[in-house]
Amino acid sequence: MATNEENVQTQNALIETAGSVLLKNYLQQPTVMARGQGVELFDVSGKRFLDMTAGISVCALGHAHPELSARLAEQTGKLLHTSNLYFIEEQILAAQAITERSFADRVYFCNSGAEANEAALKLARRYQHVVKGAPERNLIVSTEGSFHGRSIATVAITGQEKYRQGFGPLLEDVAMVPYGDLAAAKAVLEKRQACCFILEPIQAEGGIIVPPAGYLQGLRDLCDATDTILIFDEVQTGVGRTGKLWGHEWDGVVPDVMSMAKALGGGVPIGAIGASEKAAEGLTFREGGAVPHASTFGGNPLACCAASTVLRVIEEQGLLANALLVGEHIEKRFNELVQKYPESLVESRGRGLLRGLAMKSPAGPTYKRCREEGLLVSVAGGTVLRFAPALITTTDNIDEAIAILDSVLATR
Ligand SMILES: *Cc1c(COP(=O)(O)O)cnc(C)c1O
Repeated sequence: MATNEENVQTQNALIETAGSVLLKNYLQQPTVMARGQGVELFDVSGKRFLDMTAGISVCALGHAHPELSARLAEQTGKLLHTSNLYFIEEQILAAQAITERSFADRVYFCNSGAEANEAALKLARRYQHVVKGAPERNLIVSTEGSFHGRSIATVAITGQEKYRQGFGPLLEDVAMVPYGDLAAAKAVLEKRQACCFILEPIQAEGGIIVPPAGYLQGLRDLCDATDTILIFDEVQTGVGRTGKLWGHEWDGVVPDVMSMAKALGGGVPIGAIGASEKAAEGLTFREGGAVPHASTFGGNPLACCAASTVLRVIEEQGLLANALLVGEHIEKRFNELVQKYPESLVESRGRGLLRGLAMKSPAGPTYKRCREEGLLVSVAGGTVLRFAPALITTTDNIDEAIAILDSVLATR
């Protein structure tokens, strides 16, 4: 076995190679992850990290979950890809797993969150133009501070200027309204020019912003009154993240369409939209026309095997209840930190295992110091430290994370 010194050299050499071969779009931390187990990650140098990021809300079952690993290995030896020229057993079963557990009647699969939102937008436009015969209903209404992805259309509907700069001209016919402001939504929806209203049940990348009580219901009523498609972007809040399977369950309000991705495959790339029977007509094939939407890889056997397994394991192992319990523990421990460091911290926000610790200044330096001390967290909205650990996380894991964070905050 290589000595620790050799491992450090291997890691440094990899990072040096990265500097000459990778496009420099990212701002990676100087570490190369080698393997994971549950909520632990180990880098190539052998350093251990406690992972409160779960790969940005992706690895719902933690790293190297035995059941997910076994099912994927089995599927890999059986069938990886055939295309949507044929029916795919795993895709049918994954769609059934989603429809059985949500408002959705029908499911379309793609490969990422941005792609899922693209599909939702295409559905809404075509629903109005073709199904309802209303070609003037082009407007897409979105919320300030939102995040919906990085494709040209999804940056256009992302309510944060920094993601749009340098990419214009973008999709036109987008209106931004303040998140949580029903009067602003009413003013724009009443004109009946909008095809859809898209929002996150909790704004995640924007800084863990929980909407005011009654907001989602108010939007539901406005969309019903104006025949506007209501889209919930559940890419981050979905699949158990908030302690309920879907983030919108907290408000008891169902959308016409929801987008999913991140945790759905437990680490295997997959995206999807779930739609009501009515909304699904927006992407339904019509005799004599072209297939209205498609994806080469969408709904492939491997990704769908992952999705079915993740949904089943969450249920069988009671991980929603665990997410609620451990999430409350984070809230309690975050509030203690807010009491202890009032000069640096503002408040604790979030639901389930999507938690933000709002700081008075940029969270970047704290995020870096935590990593050096063996704790992985992420930053949302510039000044918010985000904990979004795997749904298998225990209160002991949280106590270890808080002890590290506390020591970092103490020496700021
Ligand atoms: C991450 C995220 C996306 C984009 O997902 P990708 O898989 O990176 O394209 C879209 N919406 C929300 C709410 C997200 O958190």
